[in-house]
Amino acid sequence: MTEKSYKERLDILSENLPRIMSEVKEYGKGKAKLLAATKTVPVEVINYAIDHLGLTCIGENRVQELLEKYDALHKDGLEIHFIGRLQTNKVKYIIDKVSLIHSVDSEKLAREINRQAEKHGIVMDVLVEVNVGREESKGGIYPEELSAFLDILAAYPHIRTVGLMAIPPVDATKEETVNYFQQTYQILVDILQKKLHNIDRYVLSMGMSDTYKEALVCGATVVRVGSALFGKRIYPQKEEQASSALHKTIEK
Ligand SMILES: *Cc1c(COP(=O)(O)O)cnc(C)c1O
Repeated sequence: MTEKSYKERLDILSENLPRIMSEVKEYGKGKAKLLAATKTVPVEVINYAIDHLGLTCIGENRVQELLEKYDALHKDGLEIHFIGRLQTNKVKYIIDKVSLIHSVDSEKLAREINRQAEKHGIVMDVLVEVNVGREESKGGIYPEELSAFLDILAAYPHIRTVGLMAIPPVDATKEETVNYFQQTYQILVDILQKKLHNIDRYVLSMGMSDTYKEALVCGATVVRVGSALFGKRIYPQKEEQASSALHKTIEK
């Protein structure tokens, strides 16, 4: 990372983080939490946000990237969540590093989380990802299958299901997105009423950079915000690929 890009990143962040924090407080009525989605964000930038701007919760969505950053992260008072697709064979790497896994959507994954949590003598908090937009390409449990899935999870003693997570379709309009948020909230309320399982203080994780205010209004307790905090994501590999593709085009 060059000097300049580092300073630019801090400037962007110093402007965005305090504003978004206060919006989360306002729209979330003081009960919601801002999770910074930190994929592609250098650990120095994350640490700056922790040390100087009051950031207390981050979410990574790739195991490899979390492991690369983990040792250098300023972890005092920091909550680290896992928010992405989680492969069963990678649970062992993160089980002792995160306090909440947002994206449980199969019994196979649940079984492995339970197994690893037992090894470490802990109970792992998880959210069930709901596929509220019924997208075939996406993970998550369909709403009508949620009740049965929660029963399955309840049988694992080293897992505690504390709520739901949802990612509405990316191509949805604002209005449709709000509709999905409302549906997700209603699904959660229904579950809380029908079967309290072990949900005492529930978590509802929904809303990203373009939609966090709406999500908060609809009852989100955690919003996962990335680019609105850190600026547009820089994917080094993709840039390289793009430039080599460009070179090939030029060579022709
Ligand atoms: C990257 C990511 C976010 C944040 O996305 P932005 O649009 O940059 O706010 C939220 N949730 C998940 C699961 C993510 O991977």
